[in-house]
Amino acid sequence: MCSCENPAIEEAILKDRLSQIKNKIVVLSGKGGVGKSTVATNIAMSLTLKGYKTGLLDVDIHGPSIPTILGLEGKRLQNDGFSILPLEYRDNLKVVSIGFLIENNDNPIVWRGPAKAGFIKQMMSEVQWGELDYLVVDCPPGTGDEPLSAIQIIEDVTGAVIVTTPQKLAISDVRKSVNFCKHLNVPIIGVIENMSGFICKECNKTVEIFKSDGGKKMAQEMDVPFLGKIPLDPDIVEAGDSGKPFIQFYSETKTAKIIDNLIQPVIEFCLNKKKENKNMKFAIPTAQGKLCQHFGHCEKFVFIEVDEATKTIISNEAIVGPEHAPGILPPWVAQQGANIILAGGMGGRAQELFAQQGIKVIAGVPSEDPEKVVTDYLNGTLITGVNGCDHSHCGSH
Ligand code: ADP
Repeated sequence: MCSCENPAIEEAILKDRLSQIKNKIVVLSGKGGVGKSTVATNIAMSLTLKGYKTGLLDVDIHGPSIPTILGLEGKRLQNDGFSILPLEYRDNLKVVSIGFLIENNDNPIVWRGPAKAGFIKQMMSEVQWGELDYLVVDCPPGTGDEPLSAIQIIEDVTGAVIVTTPQKLAISDVRKSVNFCKHLNVPIIGVIENMSGFICKECNKTVEIFKSDGGKKMAQEMDVPFLGKIPLDPDIVEAGDSGKPFIQFYSETKTAKIIDNLIQPVIEFCLNKKKENKNMKFAIPTAQGKLCQHFGHCEKFVFIEVDEATKTIISNEAIVGPEHAPGILPPWVAQQGANIILAGGMGGRAQELFAQQGIKVIAGVPSEDPEKVVTDYLNGTLITGVNGCDHSHCGSH
């Protein structure tokens, strides 16, 4: 692998690469062997089959099983001298696994603690995913340093799916995973109870082998969503061993339909999260290109959209406001998508009306260039003076 010697450059490259990925889903489990990799692969495959540009990253350094599940054993990652290039499963799912870097899966690598985190980071910063709708990350099991490194490196994880089995022991481990996510501020998409019951091929009935519903109860107790149960199904073992993703090759089975139903809430969660994280859009009243002290009587409103994460201005548009009439401005500004106003003066009543539209008002802003006041606000260096106008006519009508 190529490795960048300069940590600041490495960091910048990592940020740039991660910013091209719209949703990052981590799949966690309290312990190994509960079907975490199986679930991660089937989520990724299902998203691919639905037409989303998807990547699957296997950073389970002790037991990378995704090469086997996808029939990619023995394949090696290529690099172009600067980046690692993902393998493509059937030309559409992009896959990177630590298993593609290990010579022989039967010879486990003996890792030193810091080496593990460094390796995970290197894997993540050096892969050139390109633009993705979803990256599904199969994390190492447990709540130790390894999943912690993966989550910290990604920084803005969209959400976590936690996989458990119904037995008591696995359930107590998953509690730790839930607390781990809460501690790291990672939103929990939900818990999946895997290997829950067995669908008898003869009579098509579900037979409970371990006590069922443990995951469901635990999710309720811990106040996290429960996504559903996947039964024990010999076809899953067969699919995994023969390198044929279950959801694709067994799509007509009852279990595949169950898995597909679990994935819908994952997609919905990500869509809703995107809506919550909409960019900041500033509305600024202006006259002759500068912030105007009289909100309701300005020449034009300048709308400046900003990417909050990078604090960069995405767009800047000047629009003439609507004809003056009572109560017109607050809904009009909301319709333009603004969520914050930088104003010279604004009356208390008007501020209330904007607040009802979900728009925050910062008053007392000096008459300067709109982009400058936005930048100052984002950098925490905006100096506000007295509210230039405390009359109700500024904005409310
Ligand atoms: P983990 O990633 O948690 O270690 P894996 O996904 O590698 O677990 O699964 C462990 C084994 O269990 C694999 O052989 C896999 O095929 C099998 N398995 C996973 N889920 C099921 C299931 N619902 N029914 C039957 N076998 C399963």
